[in-house]
Amino acid sequence: MISNIHSLVRPSVLALAPYASARDDFKGVAEVYLDANESPFGSLNRYPDPHQSRLKQRLSGLKGIPPSHIFVGNGSDEVIDLVLRVFCRPGADRIIVCPPTYGMYRVSAAINEVDVVEVPLSTDFQLDLPAIQQFASDPLAKVVFVCSPNNPTGNTMAVADVQALADSFEGIVVVDEAYIDFAEQASLISLVQMYRNLIVMQTFSKAWASAGARVGTAYASPDIIDLLTKVKPPYNVSTISQEAICEVLDSQDVPLQIASIIEERERLALALTQVACVRKVYPSDANFLLVEVDDADTTYDYLAEQGVVVRNRSRQIDNCLRITVGNRAETQRLITTLNSLP
Ligand SMILES: *Cc1c(COP(=O)(O)O)cnc(C)c1O
Repeated sequence: MISNIHSLVRPSVLALAPYASARDDFKGVAEVYLDANESPFGSLNRYPDPHQSRLKQRLSGLKGIPPSHIFVGNGSDEVIDLVLRVFCRPGADRIIVCPPTYGMYRVSAAINEVDVVEVPLSTDFQLDLPAIQQFASDPLAKVVFVCSPNNPTGNTMAVADVQALADSFEGIVVVDEAYIDFAEQASLISLVQMYRNLIVMQTFSKAWASAGARVGTAYASPDIIDLLTKVKPPYNVSTISQEAICEVLDSQDVPLQIASIIEERERLALALTQVACVRKVYPSDANFLLVEVDDADTTYDYLAEQGVVVRNRSRQIDNCLRITVGNRAETQRLITTLNSLP
């Protein structure tokens, strides 16, 4: 494990004096605010809290970690971009990804002119540690992205492997836990107080039913949180989104929704195994199933024609579709349509 995070950071980011917002220059409570050129009219007239203090306080209680270990972003996609911008020098550094996996790591790297080294997952979709370690010894390899549960394969990565990677790698290990609420395995958030190079990302877009609010989180050492905060746009999460997420955190419904999606996942998996064109349904720790069919392109096109859209992942995994777990009626519609495939 790396001893000094700052040796990994882009020099321009280390030297950066972050933008100081009006709310940074004056802390405390005033009666008259004439410091941010806001309108005195309307109800959304004030800039949002750039530090998302209330939301972080709530997350801190929920996740059992101090607010200094929490970053809130405009979706996890913003966190991915910020990690690249903090640690990777354009045209020089590289990241390691383990396909088949989430496409945004690669896209975000391309936008930032950061090279991508691909170390494919093993045949059982686990990390190929020896292969990763071979590339990880390159001092230009700054970040490894690990997705667990992985999109699109649906499985979690062995915790021992992630720990071994965080122990041996002299760079940043990002664990993307977008689907962790659907998994049996616990979150690795508890490890970030031990591993100074570990970032755990979560999102409100999936289990928390708030994709439209665009809120993602990162949990890491305060050093890393401070760097992400320094680089982020000051008002990256809107007032509406901060309030919406505080509300959803209070909701008693979400745990029940998660349980019902997991139940529906198992029903869907069973129903799919009885469909003629289905060759294999992979086990899933997420809210989707990876399904191998006889011919993914034909099946995808037919479903779409019939008004049912799934994700064709056959460019990543032969003849595989990724199917999101919906409600019971949606499962029925999908199965009926698949059974009518000519
Ligand atoms: C859906 C998803 C996300 C969520 O991204 P947001 O920007 O928070 O909506 C992140 N990572 C993975 C692997 C995903 O599948």
